[in-house]
Amino acid sequence: MELLEQRIKKDGIVKAGNVLKVDSFLNHQIDIKLMNEIGKEFKRIFSGSQITKILTIEASGIAIAAIVAQYFDVPVVFAKKSRSINLDGSVYSTKIESFTHKRVYDVIVSKKYLSADDRILIVDDFLANGCAVDGLIDLIEEAGAVLEGVGIIIEKGFQDGGKRLRERGIRVESLAIIDSMNDETGEIVFRH
Ligand code: 5GP
Repeated sequence: MELLEQRIKKDGIVKAGNVLKVDSFLNHQIDIKLMNEIGKEFKRIFSGSQITKILTIEASGIAIAAIVAQYFDVPVVFAKKSRSINLDGSVYSTKIESFTHKRVYDVIVSKKYLSADDRILIVDDFLANGCAVDGLIDLIEEAGAVLEGVGIIIEKGFQDGGKRLRERGIRVESLAIIDSMNDETGEIVFRH
Protein backbone atom coordinates (compact mmCIF):
# COMPACT_ATOMS: atom_id res chain seq x y z
CA MET A 1 0.00 0.00 0.00
CA GLU A 2 1.79 3.03 -1.41
CA LEU A 3 0.28 5.60 0.96
CA LEU A 4 1.38 3.56 3.97
CA GLU A 5 4.90 2.98 2.67
CA GLN A 6 5.32 6.70 2.04
CA ARG A 7 4.18 7.44 5.58
CA ILE A 8 6.53 4.85 7.09
CA LYS A 9 9.42 6.35 5.09
CA LYS A 10 8.50 9.87 6.17
CA ASP A 11 7.72 9.30 9.85
CA GLY A 12 9.01 5.85 10.85
CA ILE A 13 12.05 5.80 13.12
CA VAL A 14 14.31 2.76 13.06
CA LYS A 15 15.50 1.83 16.54
CA ALA A 16 18.13 -0.65 17.67
CA GLY A 17 16.90 -4.20 18.22
CA ASN A 18 14.83 -4.38 15.01
CA VAL A 19 12.14 -2.04 16.33
CA LEU A 20 10.36 0.43 14.09
CA LYS A 21 8.73 3.33 15.90
CA VAL A 22 5.59 4.65 14.25
CA ASP A 23 4.22 6.54 17.23
CA SER A 24 3.27 9.60 15.19
CA PHE A 25 0.56 7.83 13.16
CA LEU A 26 -0.08 4.33 14.54
CA ASN A 27 1.09 3.49 18.06
CA HIS A 28 0.60 6.64 20.11
CA GLN A 29 -0.95 9.37 17.98
CA ILE A 30 -3.27 7.78 15.40
CA ASP A 31 -3.91 9.16 11.91
CA ILE A 32 -7.59 8.33 11.46
CA LYS A 33 -7.64 9.23 7.77
CA LEU A 34 -4.85 6.76 7.14
CA MET A 35 -6.58 4.13 9.31
CA ASN A 36 -9.72 4.53 7.19
CA GLU A 37 -7.69 3.91 4.03
CA ILE A 38 -6.23 0.84 5.74
CA GLY A 39 -9.75 -0.33 6.65
CA LYS A 40 -10.90 0.04 3.03
CA GLU A 41 -7.86 -1.84 1.78
CA PHE A 42 -8.42 -4.79 4.14
CA LYS A 43 -12.08 -4.88 3.09
CA ARG A 44 -11.02 -5.00 -0.57
CA ILE A 45 -8.46 -7.75 0.08
CA PHE A 46 -10.82 -9.90 2.17
CA SER A 47 -14.01 -9.12 0.22
CA GLY A 48 -14.43 -12.80 -0.68
CA SER A 49 -14.44 -13.92 2.97
CA GLN A 50 -17.56 -14.14 5.13
CA ILE A 51 -16.05 -12.54 8.23
CA THR A 52 -18.23 -12.39 11.37
CA LYS A 53 -15.72 -10.90 13.82
CA ILE A 54 -12.38 -9.16 13.96
CA LEU A 55 -9.98 -10.36 16.65
CA THR A 56 -7.01 -8.39 17.93
CA ILE A 57 -4.98 -7.98 21.12
CA GLU A 58 -4.80 -5.06 23.50
CA ALA A 59 -3.60 -2.42 23.54
CA SER A 60 -2.35 -1.12 20.22
CA GLY A 61 -4.50 -3.43 18.08
CA ILE A 62 -7.78 -2.10 19.43
CA ALA A 63 -8.01 1.29 17.72
CA ILE A 64 -6.88 -0.14 14.41
CA ALA A 65 -9.28 -3.09 14.55
CA ALA A 66 -12.16 -0.80 15.52
CA ILE A 67 -11.72 1.31 12.42
CA VAL A 68 -11.17 -1.69 10.14
CA ALA A 69 -14.30 -3.35 11.57
CA GLN A 70 -16.50 -0.50 10.33
CA TYR A 71 -15.78 -1.57 6.75
CA PHE A 72 -16.75 -5.18 7.54
CA ASP A 73 -19.73 -4.16 9.68
CA VAL A 74 -18.79 -6.71 12.36
CA PRO A 75 -17.83 -6.50 16.06
CA VAL A 76 -14.26 -6.34 17.33
CA VAL A 77 -13.12 -8.69 20.07
CA PHE A 78 -9.80 -7.94 21.72
CA ALA A 79 -7.85 -10.49 23.68
CA LYS A 80 -7.02 -9.18 27.14
CA LYS A 81 -3.73 -9.50 28.93
CA SER A 82 -4.74 -11.06 32.23
CA ARG A 83 -3.03 -11.04 35.60
CA SER A 84 -4.98 -13.89 37.11
CA ILE A 85 -5.49 -17.35 35.67
CA ASN A 86 -9.22 -17.89 35.33
CA LEU A 87 -10.33 -21.13 36.93
CA ASP A 88 -14.06 -21.14 36.28
CA GLY A 89 -13.81 -22.14 32.62
CA SER A 90 -15.49 -19.01 31.30
CA VAL A 91 -12.57 -17.92 29.10
CA TYR A 92 -10.28 -19.22 26.39
CA SER A 93 -6.69 -18.59 27.37
CA THR A 94 -3.17 -18.84 26.04
CA LYS A 95 0.28 -17.35 26.59
CA ILE A 96 1.90 -14.73 24.37
CA GLU A 97 5.46 -13.47 24.53
CA SER A 98 5.55 -9.75 23.84
CA PHE A 99 8.13 -8.70 21.26
CA THR A 100 8.38 -5.15 22.54
CA HIS A 101 8.23 -5.87 26.28
CA LYS A 102 10.10 -9.19 26.29
CA ARG A 103 7.74 -10.82 28.76
CA VAL A 104 5.10 -13.54 28.65
CA TYR A 105 1.45 -12.60 29.20
CA ASP A 106 -1.56 -14.77 29.92
CA VAL A 107 -4.12 -13.71 27.35
CA ILE A 108 -7.84 -14.40 27.53
CA VAL A 109 -11.08 -14.05 25.59
CA SER A 110 -14.46 -14.69 27.16
CA LYS A 111 -16.28 -17.72 25.74
CA LYS A 112 -19.26 -15.39 25.29
CA TYR A 113 -17.53 -13.56 22.46
CA LEU A 114 -15.96 -16.32 20.33
CA SER A 115 -17.83 -19.39 19.17
CA ALA A 116 -17.70 -22.21 16.63
CA ASP A 117 -20.03 -20.18 14.38
CA ASP A 118 -17.49 -17.38 13.98
CA ARG A 119 -15.30 -16.72 10.95
CA ILE A 120 -12.45 -14.57 12.17
CA LEU A 121 -10.14 -11.99 10.67
CA ILE A 122 -7.15 -11.28 12.93
CA VAL A 123 -5.92 -7.69 12.70
CA ASP A 124 -2.75 -6.31 14.27
CA ASP A 125 -0.34 -3.44 13.80
CA PHE A 126 2.93 -5.39 13.45
CA LEU A 127 4.01 -8.90 12.57
CA ALA A 128 7.51 -9.79 13.79
CA ASN A 129 8.16 -13.28 15.17
CA GLY A 130 4.47 -14.12 15.05
CA CYS A 131 3.93 -14.81 18.76
CA ALA A 132 0.92 -12.49 19.04
CA VAL A 133 -0.78 -14.03 15.99
CA ASP A 134 0.08 -17.57 17.16
CA GLY A 135 -1.64 -16.85 20.47
CA LEU A 136 -4.73 -15.39 18.79
CA ILE A 137 -4.92 -18.50 16.58
CA ASP A 138 -4.77 -20.67 19.74
CA LEU A 139 -7.83 -18.83 21.07
CA ILE A 140 -9.69 -19.27 17.75
CA GLU A 141 -8.88 -22.98 17.73
CA GLU A 142 -10.03 -23.38 21.35
CA ALA A 143 -13.34 -21.81 20.33
CA GLY A 144 -13.64 -24.05 17.26
CA ALA A 145 -14.04 -20.92 15.12
CA VAL A 146 -12.73 -20.57 11.57
CA LEU A 147 -9.69 -18.38 10.82
CA GLU A 148 -10.33 -16.57 7.53
CA GLY A 149 -7.05 -14.71 7.52
CA VAL A 150 -4.64 -12.32 9.17
CA GLY A 151 -4.45 -8.62 8.25
CA ILE A 152 -1.25 -6.87 9.29
CA ILE A 153 -0.37 -3.23 8.78
CA ILE A 154 3.44 -3.58 8.95
CA GLU A 155 5.21 -6.93 8.58
CA LYS A 156 8.92 -7.08 9.29
CA GLY A 157 9.74 -9.61 6.60
CA PHE A 158 13.23 -10.20 7.93
CA GLN A 159 11.71 -11.80 11.03
CA ASP A 160 10.14 -15.20 10.53
CA GLY A 161 6.53 -14.83 11.76
CA GLY A 162 5.01 -14.23 8.31
CA LYS A 163 6.94 -17.04 6.67
CA ARG A 164 5.99 -19.49 9.41
CA LEU A 165 2.30 -18.62 9.31
CA ARG A 166 2.13 -18.82 5.49
CA GLU A 167 3.88 -22.20 5.59
CA ARG A 168 1.04 -23.38 7.84
CA GLY A 169 -1.37 -22.43 5.04
CA ILE A 170 -2.68 -19.34 6.83
CA ARG A 171 -3.67 -16.38 4.66
CA VAL A 172 -1.51 -13.47 5.84
CA GLU A 173 -2.02 -10.12 4.11
CA SER A 174 0.36 -7.34 5.10
CA LEU A 175 -0.11 -3.82 3.76
CA ALA A 176 3.61 -3.06 3.99
CA ILE A 177 6.40 -5.61 4.22
CA ILE A 178 9.84 -4.40 5.28
CA ASP A 179 12.71 -6.46 3.94
CA SER A 180 15.41 -4.59 5.80
CA MET A 181 15.94 -1.57 7.98
CA ASN A 182 19.04 0.07 9.36
CA ASP A 183 19.10 1.87 12.69
CA GLU A 184 22.31 3.73 11.82
CA THR A 185 21.25 5.19 8.45
CA GLY A 186 17.49 5.05 9.04
CA GLU A 187 17.05 3.32 5.66
CA ILE A 188 13.93 1.16 5.22
CA VAL A 189 13.60 -1.21 2.24
CA PHE A 190 10.15 -2.56 1.29
CA ARG A 191 9.30 -5.83 -0.45
CA HIS A 192 7.19 -5.57 -3.62
P1 5GP B 1 5.33 -10.72 17.26
O1 5GP B 1 4.43 -11.31 18.28
O2 5GP B 1 4.91 -10.99 15.84
O3 5GP B 1 6.78 -11.04 17.51
O4 5GP B 1 5.26 -9.14 17.46
C1 5GP B 1 4.08 -8.46 17.17
C2 5GP B 1 3.67 -7.55 18.28
O5 5GP B 1 4.79 -6.88 18.86
C3 5GP B 1 2.75 -6.50 17.73
O6 5GP B 1 1.49 -6.64 18.36
C4 5GP B 1 3.39 -5.17 18.08
O7 5GP B 1 2.63 -4.52 19.07
C5 5GP B 1 4.74 -5.49 18.63
N1 5GP B 1 5.85 -5.17 17.70
C6 5GP B 1 6.67 -6.06 17.07
N2 5GP B 1 7.62 -5.43 16.38
C7 5GP B 1 7.39 -4.12 16.51
C8 5GP B 1 8.06 -2.94 15.99
O8 5GP B 1 9.06 -2.97 15.26
N3 5GP B 1 7.53 -1.75 16.35
C9 5GP B 1 6.43 -1.64 17.14
N4 5GP B 1 6.00 -0.41 17.42
N5 5GP B 1 5.78 -2.72 17.66
C10 5GP B 1 6.26 -3.95 17.35
